[in-house]
Amino acid sequence: MTGAAASRPPSYRMVRGGEWVAAAGEASFESLNPYTGAAWATAPDGSAMDVTEAVGCARSALDGEWSRTTPRERAALMRRLADILARDAQELARIESTDNGKVIREMAGQTASLPDWLHYFAGLADKITGETLPSGKPNHFVYTREEPVGVVGAIVPWNSPLLMTIFKLAPALAAGCTMVLKPSDQTPISALELARRVEEAGFPAGVFNVVTGLGPVTGRALAGDPGVAKVAFTGSTRVGVEVGQAAIRNMARLSLELGGKSAQVVLEDADVEAAANGIVAGIFAAGGQTCLAGSRVIVHERLHDDLVDRLVRRAREIRLGDPLDPVTEMGPLVSEQHLERVLGFVQRAVGEGATLLCGGGRPDGLDGFFVEPTILAAVEGGSEIAQEEIFGPVLAVMPIKDEEEAVRLANGTRYGLAASVWTSHVQRAHAVAHRLRAGTVYINSYRIVDPGVPFGGVKMSGIGRENGARAVREYTETKAVWLEMSAESRDPFKLG
Ligand code: NAD
Repeated sequence: MTGAAASRPPSYRMVRGGEWVAAAGEASFESLNPYTGAAWATAPDGSAMDVTEAVGCARSALDGEWSRTTPRERAALMRRLADILARDAQELARIESTDNGKVIREMAGQTASLPDWLHYFAGLADKITGETLPSGKPNHFVYTREEPVGVVGAIVPWNSPLLMTIFKLAPALAAGCTMVLKPSDQTPISALELARRVEEAGFPAGVFNVVTGLGPVTGRALAGDPGVAKVAFTGSTRVGVEVGQAAIRNMARLSLELGGKSAQVVLEDADVEAAANGIVAGIFAAGGQTCLAGSRVIVHERLHDDLVDRLVRRAREIRLGDPLDPVTEMGPLVSEQHLERVLGFVQRAVGEGATLLCGGGRPDGLDGFFVEPTILAAVEGGSEIAQEEIFGPVLAVMPIKDEEEAVRLANGTRYGLAASVWTSHVQRAHAVAHRLRAGTVYINSYRIVDPGVPFGGVKMSGIGRENGARAVREYTETKAVWLEMSAESRDPFKLG
């Protein structure tokens, strides 16, 4: 941050190769606080040239000092960064909450967990092993090495900026990669604050670089930069498809964590109160602005009215307000444009015949981009509200007659990020969990993530998995090494 006048929002610089720089031409943009609607900081408006330079810095670091660090030295740096992030978790949570409008309880939980990712992957850094392989060929010794894939281009959304970053940064550092990060232009500041702390931890210059800017400019340039060996993207399915196409033109490795329309399946033998609690956590926590939003409830007709009554009662009690107030349960949406989009979905759903049980508009007495917790019943499985990701506090409820219908409806969207099944019957719980087409299925639970547990989607929810021990392999390239052990010469015209 530069020394800005007290009355003006602080003005940040971005970092590449250890240098804190303005964008080419000194261009900058304002980051808005969604609660007040006012600009609270400015960030450099990076250009494609800024991206190229940052990728160059990441490449130099990869070829330089970083390539000579041992896995244990990398792990020690990661643990030092973990301690710094633990020290500053509250401050980082305030920055995130100010930038994206999500409540401080949610963001403090996220920032407090960042060190867990660094410790988990630091523990794996010296266990990224190759194999010795039995070869069918005589006189050959064969082994594999897991080498760092190279420069990682990471692009993350606004809803959980640092958490989505650490999902990528922790395994990338463990594997020995370097990174250029492009945060969302709606929440650029926490990435820059993270970079200051990476520097403080003592990582060599150029290992972690940040380019702030607009998605269609800096994001597009990063996804398509020929110096990027791996693109790690979290965001919408629409942009993910474009990012994937850009990456494949360079044969860059790719992981895509995309949108969802996750189903909460409530069977007739479920504990209704527990299910209601999990459904509230799934859709109204974070204002529904989470990829994991459990935005569809598929409930057995016998429990339908009881469950809906409880959900409506809970929804009406949710405290909306200042995201920085620890008692607030739901903050505003991230922008006015997003608010209009969310309300548009609700209006069209009612027009298509869904029943509005609560919410559906802007709450009285609050100026930010607030939407009331909204529940729609009698939703048709094929309707827009049941098919499209809303990314807001809007729940669609669908009654079902049996398990077959539940599974069919749950699997009946193009997405497959997460799902849950609520039942007190253990065999049934597993049987349904196995049939749900999603990267994560929760049984009698919802919305938990952990560094040790793979996370990602099937169908249009993405490609690849973050988290879990195997995630580190998303950042390595396997090399096979053959060693001839005999001195005999071979027939040069025959494949060995
Ligand atoms: P988005 O797709 O609009 O933007 C994501 C990132 O891509 C941002 O940094 C943006 O600036 C950048 N971008 C935009 N256009 C680009 C382009 N043409 N080329 C390259 N980059 C570009 O998503 P968002 O609105 O910031 O975030 C919400 C979305 O993210 C939701 O769909 C949500 O489900 C998804 N998400 C998924 C996960 C997951 O793990 N599956 C987690 C969080 C959010």
